[in-house]
Amino acid sequence: MFPRFSRIALTVIVLAGVAGSTASVPPNGLPDSGTPTIASTPDPSGTPSPTDAIASSPSASASPAPTPPPSTEPPPPPPPTIIPACPSGQCSSPVGQGIDPNRPVIALTFDDGPSAHTKPLVDLFTAHGAHATFFVLGNLVDPYSNEAAAIVNAGSEIMGHSWDHSDLTKLTPQQIRDQFTMTNSAIQRTTGVMPNAYRPPYGSLSDAVKAVSQETGLSIITWNVDTQDWLTRDAQQVHDWVMTHAKPNAIILCHELYESTVEAMRTAIPGLIAQGYQLVTVSQLLQAQGVTMEPGVVYDS
Ligand SMILES: [Zn+2]
Repeated sequence: MFPRFSRIALTVIVLAGVAGSTASVPPNGLPDSGTPTIASTPDPSGTPSPTDAIASSPSASASPAPTPPPSTEPPPPPPPTIIPACPSGQCSSPVGQGIDPNRPVIALTFDDGPSAHTKPLVDLFTAHGAHATFFVLGNLVDPYSNEAAAIVNAGSEIMGHSWDHSDLTKLTPQQIRDQFTMTNSAIQRTTGVMPNAYRPPYGSLSDAVKAVSQETGLSIITWNVDTQDWLTRDAQQVHDWVMTHAKPNAIILCHELYESTVEAMRTAIPGLIAQGYQLVTVSQLLQAQGVTMEPGVVYDS
């Protein structure tokens, strides 16, 4: 079903074995990449949406100034509508920042943790007053409980990425259900946050997976920019890819397993901010577009 992954997957497995690293590599060791695949239901996930180019024209939606100015000067602009940083009340700590609807947003996302790289990444975002979303594996949450908690404490977002990086389309409905509930239980137990969405490993989806997602109240998050950081493992290339593919409402797929990805973020985060982007969580990115997340629905921008 995913023939083009097979050789890469084998390479990754071999590399993981050579590296001898077990703690920070998901049991299956396989990256998410390319275009999210949705079996049986054609879906444009993973390809830039035609709405992307215009998606960030936030309306000046606030009410106009109540009193007309006495002079011929143009009226002052309405005050910006500040969207709470934790709209769903998931965050357990105050963030103290809102989102300016007049500036574009990007969500940087990191899969396959928590890991030894989680805290350095969280610290980077904090240093720049920015936030990210981390899609974590349930079976790594307890071993990296401090790292998982650090995500939430920094005002960033934690969501599930399955228990053990299984391809959900190959599981029974009950097995899918178990992947969701076990992962979310671990996240809630460790961070106090109960996620309302997840990212499927490999972006692999089917109608059955969507049905269980809906039943369990979970939205589905994929991506529209793939850095392929797991493949290049080169900080400069990852940085350049992020900067050249940055666009309003981008959900950028990264993996926190690689030092090269962390290094890339040291320059990409301030670089994106310098271009005027607000680096926000996926939930914030969707809310900034007026999107209400629904269970069983896929969101990629
Ligand atoms: Zn993954």
